[in-house]
Amino acid sequence: MSKLWALKKSIWVFHLCSGSCNNCDIEILDCLTPKFDLERFGIILTGSIRHADVILASGAITRKALPRIKRVYEQMPSPKIVIAIGGCACSCGIFAGSYNIVGPFDKVLPVTAYVPGCPPKPEAMIDGVVKVINSL
Ligand code: SF4
Repeated sequence: MSKLWALKKSIWVFHLCSGSCNNCDIEILDCLTPKFDLERFGIILTGSIRHADVILASGAITRKALPRIKRVYEQMPSPKIVIAIGGCACSCGIFAGSYNIVGPFDKVLPVTAYVPGCPPKPEAMIDGVVKVINSL
């Protein structure tokens, strides 16, 4: 039986911020509180990238964060799912053109899904993650 089948019922997410205004991060944390009850979908936050199935990525990628983002991604087990959360992660948002910005997440990592917004609501993030789960 494939690992993808197992992921549908048990998906562990890792929160990765590459430099932003941090409002998306606050919304991601809000999303992970009991109020939204993500565990009903089998989604749980993990503190180790080595245990993660999905990266919830926020922020435009800065030059300083770039090598760390690559290193974190390399340590993730396959299949590697990356969901870009917010306008900055999707397209650099308000930081586009800044001297220290390398680009949005899909310039550095293969992104599976995009959740736009500044910041996106927790309901939009949940919708994005569930759509990814259902597409496995
Ligand atoms: S998308 Fe908006 S809220 Fe999210 S990190 Fe960028 S500026 Fe902040």
